[in-house]
Amino acid sequence: MKLGVHVNRAGGLMKALDAARSLGCDTIQMFSRSPRSLRPGSVDEDEARRFSEGLAAAGIGPLVIHAPYLLNLASPRKEAYEASRDALAHDIALARAVGAGMLVFHPGSHLGSGVEAGTTNIASAIVDACEKACDDGESGPLLLLEMVSGAGTEVGKTFEEQREIMSRANGVPLGICLDTCHIFAAGYEVRTRGGLSQALDELAGAVGMESLALVHANDSVGDLGSHLDRHADIGEGRIGENGFRTILGCSRLSHLPFILETPHRTLDDDARNLAALRRIAGEAVSW
Ligand SMILES: [Zn+2]
Ligand SMILES: [Zn+2]
Repeated sequence: MKLGVHVNRAGGLMKALDAARSLGCDTIQMFSRSPRSLRPGSVDEDEARRFSEGLAAAGIGPLVIHAPYLLNLASPRKEAYEASRDALAHDIALARAVGAGMLVFHPGSHLGSGVEAGTTNIASAIVDACEKACDDGESGPLLLLEMVSGAGTEVGKTFEEQREIMSRANGVPLGICLDTCHIFAAGYEVRTRGGLSQALDELAGAVGMESLALVHANDSVGDLGSHLDRHADIGEGRIGENGFRTILGCSRLSHLPFILETPHRTLDDDARNLAALRRIAGEAVSW
């Protein structure tokens, strides 16, 4: 299985590469910019080239870019909506500059305007951002809608809601990122074979199994259906080791990259969680 972590790029791309190598990641994710800011991040062309070459030499891939949490493509407020749409366009360009195969983002929160209005905004922002970022005809990264926990007025807590976004974003190929913490908090019982099968059947029926491109592997502080988006260390949350044994043994998921977004203070935290994920994956019985 391809397992990796979300690495910090605040110290520069080459430092992120060092971290990925020292942790022994098969795949990595990083933010496009500060996760709490819509100010554009920038990359030096030469640094970006050395970074992609370093990843390729180390056999690390895919590289995934995560857009900032502040992005709200569903916002009914014009200014926030436009800033989010432009930030997405910028992140598509940045993802291409660093050779990322995927760009993942949370669809957004409708803030009381309703799922219907929120969905319309999300889809049109995606179409506009793609048009803006890909006007030279070069293909961009695969855009992934992340399954969210459904906190507040978040859109994208069910596969049906994701399907609606995908069908309205005419012509833009979109995939799905399944976050184990979010989907569990959204009410999907992924700890058991029966529950996980049911969730994946629902996914397959709504958007097709081939849409699923990435898994965020996070344990959950909140319980099933709590709609709480708080990640726990692998095995230390409500999903627990047994739950991850079910998830990591599932043959419908084993071809996907799994990326950790567990609580991080130092690299040791990532090393510990990655080791736990590897150990559980090794012990898991394939089903
Ligand atoms: Zn996630
Ligand atoms: Zn989360």
